[in-house]
Amino acid sequence: KKIIIVGGVAGGSTAAARLRRLDEQAEIILLEKGPYISFANCGLPYYIGETIQDRNKLLVQTAEGMSARYNMQVRTSNEVTAIDRSAKSITVTNLETGETYQESYDELILSPGARPVVPPIQGIQEAEELFTLRSVPDTDRIKTYIDEQHPKHAVVVGGGFIGLEMAENLRERGLDVTIIEMSSQVMGPIDYEMASIIHQHLIDKGIQLILDDGVQAFEDHGRKVITGNGLEINTDMILLSIGVRPENELAKNAGLSIGERGGIQVNDQLQTNDPHIYAIGDAIEVKDYTNGQPTMVPLAWPANRQGRIVADAIYGRKAAYHGTLGTSIAKVFDYTVAATGNNEKTLTKLGVPYDVVHVHPASHAGYYPEAKSIALKLVFDKETGNIYGAQAVGMDGVDKRIDVIATAMKGGLTVMDLPDLELAYAPPYSSAKDPVNMAGYTAT
Ligand code: FAD
Repeated sequence: KKIIIVGGVAGGSTAAARLRRLDEQAEIILLEKGPYISFANCGLPYYIGETIQDRNKLLVQTAEGMSARYNMQVRTSNEVTAIDRSAKSITVTNLETGETYQESYDELILSPGARPVVPPIQGIQEAEELFTLRSVPDTDRIKTYIDEQHPKHAVVVGGGFIGLEMAENLRERGLDVTIIEMSSQVMGPIDYEMASIIHQHLIDKGIQLILDDGVQAFEDHGRKVITGNGLEINTDMILLSIGVRPENELAKNAGLSIGERGGIQVNDQLQTNDPHIYAIGDAIEVKDYTNGQPTMVPLAWPANRQGRIVADAIYGRKAAYHGTLGTSIAKVFDYTVAATGNNEKTLTKLGVPYDVVHVHPASHAGYYPEAKSIALKLVFDKETGNIYGAQAVGMDGVDKRIDVIATAMKGGLTVMDLPDLELAYAPPYSSAKDPVNMAGYTAT
């Protein structure tokens, strides 16, 4: 079997490694248009902030390492530009030599990811110090600019994960930071009252937070940002982090079916409408695990999980992807924000009735030092006890509680089961009634 994988980072390299384990004979070719495969996208903001100091640590696996270890061809700086489905072949351009060639396949896996949205804002073309963050070269550009030009002020457009992580890391580097967010809150996966805790914390950390306002124009080569509400902000650099768009051009041009939001459509085996072409990761439309609706969830867990499942599916093993819960987490200065499943905003939009409880237990026994309050919110169906989702904000122990609830949701447990979860307890870690138990008691 000859299997070609397009995209060599999260989903692509996981799929490649699994394929090799399943078949020692297969011919596997991994094609990546960028200079690196398998880099730590999620670590990039922390390298800019210098929490991660060694650039090599970002390069989890090199092309040479991967090809030697797994006996496969790994070609970086090779961009796939077209798929000929009837000939089962692709067109590739070697970006270093400019040479173009064809490569045939038996099975093709697309894991091209998603790229930052860059809207046609007035003056954006002329803005000089305007950055987006996706790749190692993007990271190098931002870090070099900070290291060499010592900017004093940054505007971060968009208050999602990457925007907030970057705001913190730019602050770490001594910059003053303004965040401009179009909606009334940062961090989409949580609801407004939970985000309010983060709003206050950002302000306490010296961030200028502008909500309910968007960028209308960049002036003076990007040195001045004009907002819709008429604010004028002088700045030395701009980070655009207003979301990502699936890289669907290859699939679209090959006539593969694409969903309303631009994601490549696949079945539970991650197969597109062409039985020899599979797609995974940020580029695909997935089923929301909680409400069953099509959605896009550009996160690393789904990409990695799908990378393994797609390899199993190609080899006829029993494997299926059952949807994405959207479990997510981020550090925002001293706070952790995490969520899983659906929030109130989503359920309201869908017209699904729900109940909510808020609890504020301590992260561990109050009499043991450093206990911190966790704001924990549970969204559920009062009748059936079905858990729709959970959100937590706090300085300690947030990750554990959301992960326990995410596990409960995948296991089909209800709020009635939460008091019955027997969780690890000693004073430095929890209480005899864990915050998850407490949420369950309160809900029932
Ligand atoms: P990617 O990992 O993006 O890989 C796709 C690759 O395909 C790219 O390298 C691209 O160059 C290549 N490619 C595209 N088109 C072609 C083509 N035509 N030919 C050849 N190659 C092509 N997720 C989390 O869960 N937690 C986090 O903390 C987190 N932090 C993040 C921080 C940052 C700064 C970024 C950018 C992302 C972060 N993510 C995080 C998201 C996570 O990295 C992605 O969900 C994940 O990498 C998606 O995997 P993928 O394989 O679909 O795409």
